[in-house]
Amino acid sequence: MQHLAGNLFIVSAPSGAGKSSLIQALLKRHSDMQVSVSHTTRAPRPGEQDGVHYHFISVDAFKGLIAKDEFFEWAEVFGNYYGTSKSSIRDSLSFGIDVFLDIDWQGARQVKTQEASAKGIFILPPSLTELEQRLNSRGQDSAEVISKRMAQAHSEMSHADEYEFLIINDNFDTALVEFERIVLAQRNSYSSQASKHSNMLKQLLAKTAN
Ligand code: GDP
Ligand code: ADP
Ligand code: 5GP
Repeated sequence: MQHLAGNLFIVSAPSGAGKSSLIQALLKRHSDMQVSVSHTTRAPRPGEQDGVHYHFISVDAFKGLIAKDEFFEWAEVFGNYYGTSKSSIRDSLSFGIDVFLDIDWQGARQVKTQEASAKGIFILPPSLTELEQRLNSRGQDSAEVISKRMAQAHSEMSHADEYEFLIINDNFDTALVEFERIVLAQRNSYSSQASKHSNMLKQLLAKTAN
């Protein structure tokens, strides 16, 4: 992809660390940020809406999209398929909107190979006990699903060093401020500014005749 105006952020964490809550809280504060809605083959949780939280599709339909090369990245996580469609991010970025991908470490690697400017943010819980409490208090997964997710937490966290930024989500408001700071600071990176203001930079840096 060329000349992106918005920035692309990959947000990963062990399940229950609070990434969805942090992303949703940041989106409430900024209308020029969006989260990409992934496709998944897992069943909707109570209250989850098709097209809002995920595009919920069958395994066959998912495989059909893979065959048609519709995915920017996809991975199997906790026994289900998850993927980001190309169309879910392309337009937003070109309109200057910052886009968050709530994806696992396997997806993060795929995104980085295709879009080197994407920045990774990893979110950690303050402890494993707290992580388990959050999964339980969310009250949306069965005991079996929660133990599967706790068993995978170590493996997901072992990839934290592949990300540019790290947030410890202990106090939610503190973590939210840190998240916001990272995203806003990125707007002033040289490459972001250069793509937004390319004509102005050309004029300022053009050699004068005399
Ligand atoms: P959560 O971990 O509690 O948010 O549970 P989810 O069922 O929403 O997500 C399960 C896992 O799939 C997480 O590790 C997500 O980051 C990952 N995931 C969600 N959407 C995508 C996607 O589009 N691509 C990839 N690669 N991973 C995804
Ligand atoms: P993820 O998307 O990473 O799986 P969620 O955003 O669904 O995680 O958060 C898991 C649960 O933990 C939710 O019930 C959420 O309200 C709660 N939670 C998130 N951050 C905190 C925090 N800093 N302190 C206490 N509870 C939190
Ligand atoms: P959940 O089932 O709790 O919604 O998500 C479980 C995990 O799947 C989370 O860690 C989430 O980041 C990951 N995930 C969700 N969507 C995608 C996606 O499109 N691609 C990849 N690679 N992972 C995803």
